[in-house]
Amino acid sequence: MKDIYEPGSLTQAIDFHLAHSVGKTPDTASTTDWRLALSRAVRDKLIAPWFEATNRTYAKDRKRVYYLSMEFLLGRILEDAVNNLELEDDAREALAKHGVSFADVVNDEPDAALGNGGLGRLAACFLDSMSCLGIPAYGYGIRYAHGLFRQSFDQGKQVEMAEDWLRHQHNWEFERSECLYDIGFGGEVIETGAQAKWSPSDIVMAQAYDTPVAGWQARWTNTLRLWSAKPKKIFDLDPFNRGEYMQAAAPAVLAETISRVLYPDDSTETGKALRLKQEFFFTSASLQDLLRRFLTHNGDLRALPTKVAIQMNDTHPAIAGPELIRLLSDVHGLSFDDAFDTAQNTLHYTNHTLLPEALEAWDVGLMRSILPRHMQLIERIDDRLGRDVAMSKTGVTPRIVENNVVNMGTLAFTCSRRVNGVSALHTDLMKQTVFSDLHKVYPERILNQTNGVTPRRWLHGCNPGLRDLLNETIGTEWVSDLEQLENIAPLADDPAFRKRFMAIKQDNKRRLADWVAENMNLQISPDAMFDIQIKRIHEYKRQLMNAFETAALANAIRREPDADWTPRVKFFGGKAAPAYVDAKNIIRLINDIAQSINTDPVIGDRLKVVYPPNYNVSLAEMLIPAADLSEQISTAGKEASGTGNMKFALNGAVTIGTLDGANVEICDHVGATNIYIFGMTAAEVQAAREGYVTQDYIDRSPILNEVIEQVRTGFYSPGDPTRHWPVLEKLLRDDYFMVAADFDAYWDAQRRVDGGFANKDAWARMAVLNTALSGWFSSDRTIQGYAKDIWGIDSLAGETE
Ligand SMILES: *Cc1c(COP(=O)(O)O)cnc(C)c1O
Repeated sequence: MKDIYEPGSLTQAIDFHLAHSVGKTPDTASTTDWRLALSRAVRDKLIAPWFEATNRTYAKDRKRVYYLSMEFLLGRILEDAVNNLELEDDAREALAKHGVSFADVVNDEPDAALGNGGLGRLAACFLDSMSCLGIPAYGYGIRYAHGLFRQSFDQGKQVEMAEDWLRHQHNWEFERSECLYDIGFGGEVIETGAQAKWSPSDIVMAQAYDTPVAGWQARWTNTLRLWSAKPKKIFDLDPFNRGEYMQAAAPAVLAETISRVLYPDDSTETGKALRLKQEFFFTSASLQDLLRRFLTHNGDLRALPTKVAIQMNDTHPAIAGPELIRLLSDVHGLSFDDAFDTAQNTLHYTNHTLLPEALEAWDVGLMRSILPRHMQLIERIDDRLGRDVAMSKTGVTPRIVENNVVNMGTLAFTCSRRVNGVSALHTDLMKQTVFSDLHKVYPERILNQTNGVTPRRWLHGCNPGLRDLLNETIGTEWVSDLEQLENIAPLADDPAFRKRFMAIKQDNKRRLADWVAENMNLQISPDAMFDIQIKRIHEYKRQLMNAFETAALANAIRREPDADWTPRVKFFGGKAAPAYVDAKNIIRLINDIAQSINTDPVIGDRLKVVYPPNYNVSLAEMLIPAADLSEQISTAGKEASGTGNMKFALNGAVTIGTLDGANVEICDHVGATNIYIFGMTAAEVQAAREGYVTQDYIDRSPILNEVIEQVRTGFYSPGDPTRHWPVLEKLLRDDYFMVAADFDAYWDAQRRVDGGFANKDAWARMAVLNTALSGWFSSDRTIQGYAKDIWGIDSLAGETE
């Protein structure tokens, strides 16, 4: 098969699909109908390259990557596919013939929100980059019926609603009703001599749904295979015949529960049995599937590492260690030692966080009851680790099972050939903290792969103005070779170029201001500085510090309204985990502060606060290109990498940030004069813990003190003065993330930002240089690092027969 796309054929394809796939005429078609028709027409273009990539990988029997991730935060798919195939003009024209707006059609698509935040979005960027680079790969995950909850606000409080992305047909996927695997739970282990056999008490089936993932210009197309849980027995006829209808349907309902919802916890572990079942469900299905594929071409399973590299995205798929060993030994007859060595040489693990509350640990009793055979194998793996530890004579005692819990980080580490962190700082801290003992025993195992973001979605797709300027100035190669952006660095000193660059920023800001006017009933000026903090609401990310600074700025403006203020609009965006009470309290406080400031005529346009509900990928795509200032202000040592920081820099926003995660490397790349760094370093944070008293810092900061007093006396909650006391109480009791200690440094940095923004030329120069010098943060560079240092895989794209 050839012919990706013949010019002019898209119009016919859309008309064809409107009739034959959607069953509508142009006269009766809704926006959604047009979207479905266009999606089908575009999907058709992916099929030939998809088959070709798959056939080529099979024909050459090449090594493949299997990226196991509990989350894939894809966002919208249609516009991205249109961009990757460069079909935008054709699609626009084809729809225009029917008087239909392309923008309306692509915006009609619900986000595929099968993830919480950075971790899931990283997996999505990696899929894009692996396809762009022609690396044969499968993404493996869960096809949740309901993705991350939708957020709204009721009097400032977060309200969660179920998300329902599959309500209209999701026409990017192919249902593989023949691709089914049994997934067992519970039961017992029957041992006969050296042989062990697991006899589960419950079995559900994992069914595959495949989505083609086209890379840039469809040079290569990989597969995202998501698993959906189906009952082994669809229906119980006996109870039905007795009139017990609920009971008849119960087995199916129970089985399908496994892939029903995404757990909405970001950076917090949920020790729930269903979560463990989800993890095992998709991991086991993926391993069974890849072993089947391997065995179609190979006989000896000990050769698995020569054809397969498995990457575990965090510990969520860490049960892959014992499960792969089980499949290789109990099912396929390898000895335990051969199975362990084979598994270990195939598996790799990415750590994403050092936060203790996020490190997965399963109760031994729960693990034994749900996965009895795996618990046995975990104990055997732990014995092996114990012997390595003894041999290493390091004097440390890392163990997988401790205090009656299975430490999944230690398990993942022990079963992996390579373990990586996601920024230089994070990898160093990993070696010093969570994995310090294991690092002593296995000093070669840990390495770094700093995260990246795909330039297709996060520049080419979301910022068409800047895309066109770049294409005109340096050609189009930057889209798949992002470090070519350096070629615009000299133009930072060219007033004409700066002017065009900032005119694009201004357009993006105007579009956002229009959206805010329309959707939030608030007038903001595109001439003000757009200062944006969008990410999950978490104490370590310190939205609270930003909220306090916002309130303090409002106080300063009220005192001296006629001083020379740099007008600002502060944007907040993000969801809190539904059970994370402290984070939800912060959301309410931000909304109350916003209300107070936005309605104060004395403040006027000098300061506005906007908190659009339901932050997601699509909202990010609108906000980021409109940002002047990017807020990356986590407590140093707590943000593993961040990827939002990279998206902003790429789109010409200047960062205000701490020396945390990849901010450190952003500073190295864009240069210390083009970023506002403030606050304690990771080492200083550690030092400050000794004898930390929040009140001491507040006492030393009149600016912070005033805000705290306002919150205490109900200034932001008139009629309900105690509303925000829980926030203060927590802060005073345990300011673990050091909001008070860093506040003054943050305030001072913000005032430097005010001065910086007032100098239009100097600011424009910084903005241009941020775009020019952040090309290194492409996820293509990250994936090339994984391919070379971890997977040992070459690109297949462009390779001739
Ligand atoms: C990039 C992204 C994130 C990660 O942002 P951080 O600032 O790195 O935490 C989270 N959510 C969405 C929707 C994103 O696009």
